[in-house]
Amino acid sequence: MRPFTDTELKEYIKNAKKYCAKGKVATYIPALARKNKKDLGVFVMLESGEEYAAGDYKEKFSMQSVSKPFVLLLAMQDWGIEKVLEKVGLESTGDGFNSVVRLETADTHKPFNPMINAGAIAVTSMVKGKTVDERFERLLNFIRLIAESEDIHLNQEIYESELATGNRNRSLAYFMEGEGFLATPSQEALEVYFKQCSIEVTAKNLAQMGLFLARGGVLSDGTRVVSEEEARLVRSIIASCGLYDESGEFAAKVGIPAKSGVGGGIMCAIKPDMGIGIYGPALNAKGNSLAGIEVLKQLVKDHDLCIY
Ligand code: GLU
Repeated sequence: MRPFTDTELKEYIKNAKKYCAKGKVATYIPALARKNKKDLGVFVMLESGEEYAAGDYKEKFSMQSVSKPFVLLLAMQDWGIEKVLEKVGLESTGDGFNSVVRLETADTHKPFNPMINAGAIAVTSMVKGKTVDERFERLLNFIRLIAESEDIHLNQEIYESELATGNRNRSLAYFMEGEGFLATPSQEALEVYFKQCSIEVTAKNLAQMGLFLARGGVLSDGTRVVSEEEARLVRSIIASCGLYDESGEFAAKVGIPAKSGVGGGIMCAIKPDMGIGIYGPALNAKGNSLAGIEVLKQLVKDHDLCIY
């Protein structure tokens, strides 16, 4: 693999900046609408300990859907892979992230995959704990553990806005509760789900989390947190479903396992030894970081990182 340099990452950011203007920050809540759409940052972390970064990589932003792969890992820890797959499938939909349509039209009414909102809410309902607070604390601490950082917190303002605007997610949860796909009452699953979306991270945190998946579920000190099988399952599901209904195009044009969120983050996990975190809140029509994808295109091409 060609070595990285900060200068080259700066060049990628410079080249991709023009795409920021073409994107739109998420506007469904004020805290996201206020984000600066010119921001763009990248952080590359290697198993060797080398780190490279450029642009606005120190900015904090909400994880949103980037939380989904990690909640899936925690649910698999709590129930085992098979039990989790009774509540959620592993097939991409080609529909929008918050689509309701397939829940009703599919034979089983089972959510298609854990990266769309329906599947993610079903998975969140499986995180064990006596109370909602305990479930969220476990989840937050799990994310801190994997990101190897204690400086990861809930943004209360974002959480309250998610609560205030989350009726579509409520409709998904109520439907699934009726069909028997939630392990806890829908109200409780939703509260944890809205909170997980509101956890704030940086591009560096996402790079560390990507590296964890790339290494197969092991922290940098060698501690195993999840099994290789679980880490592989999550890498594969993000490779096929990680960028909403742009996942096929991302696979064809970029070609690495990655998970995006409407906060502007993209987390990438490249086996065996690389994690990449992107922050760029200007989104394309599918809800993915427009300029962030452009940074990844250059980086993956120059370093020959495409997995296919
Ligand atoms: N919090 C939002 C929702 O659940 C967006 C999640 C995302 O796709 O990043 O609808």
